[in-house]
Amino acid sequence: MSVDPNLSRGAPGRGHPTSEVRIVTVFPTLLGTYGDGGNAHILAVRAQARGIPASVIRVDPGDAVPVEADLYLLGGGEDDAQVAAVELLRPSALPQAVERDAVIFAVCAGFQLLGHEFPGADGRPVAGLGLLDVTTTRLSRRAVGELLAEPTDATPLREPLTGYENHAGATTLGAAVQPLGLVRAGVGNGTERAGHLVEGAVQGRILGTYLHGPALARNPELADHLLGLVVGRPLPPWPQPEIEALRAERLAAAGWRR
Ligand code: GLN
Repeated sequence: MSVDPNLSRGAPGRGHPTSEVRIVTVFPTLLGTYGDGGNAHILAVRAQARGIPASVIRVDPGDAVPVEADLYLLGGGEDDAQVAAVELLRPSALPQAVERDAVIFAVCAGFQLLGHEFPGADGRPVAGLGLLDVTTTRLSRRAVGELLAEPTDATPLREPLTGYENHAGATTLGAAVQPLGLVRAGVGNGTERAGHLVEGAVQGRILGTYLHGPALARNPELADHLLGLVVGRPLPPWPQPEIEALRAERLAAAGWRR
């Protein structure tokens, strides 16, 4: 386990370590495709910009997953890396962290392995951690390209969700989860609820998604929502014309229309 010195700051003026948002990036070497590791950096920077101290703790295979952090990030991965990651996480403190009300944000392979099961490289089902009420099987064709979704009422998000997807999994939602979004372009979970193709899943303080990009760079509202869950109040707006321009470009590329 290592702490990124550039992002780790104390809690100025308060001197209490629990006032810091502790962000854990789980196995970025196994679960970090398409820049998903960047999600940790974005959360830390967005917290610090609002005067909220934040630190990033990187957990590598062989390191213990800390139980007392606030926000855990899991990214995408190849099939074999995904199986290796789930085996390391099965006996880890991640399930206890969920019981302690930690916020979890999981992308693609990370999303799938939180569920009941997902296909390994040979297509045979591998048991997931069962922390999220979803089950993943194989899509008939790999989903690759821009993914655009409109947020559901499962979160207070209002802006369209944009990202890049590349996966072979089709994820079916159980009764305990709500979809994060309704798909407007791309495949997302590749399954429907109430006649809509859906993207991602929300169950309490666990969010899963197929959005890469990294997702929190492309969707600052989503990043602030995760931080808001940790600090217990919405974060003040942080207008950034460059990010709005990037979003406008990505949304147009996926054919977004209100
Ligand atoms: N291995 C999984 C799949 O192909 C996840 C891929 C990913 O994380 N990009 O469905």
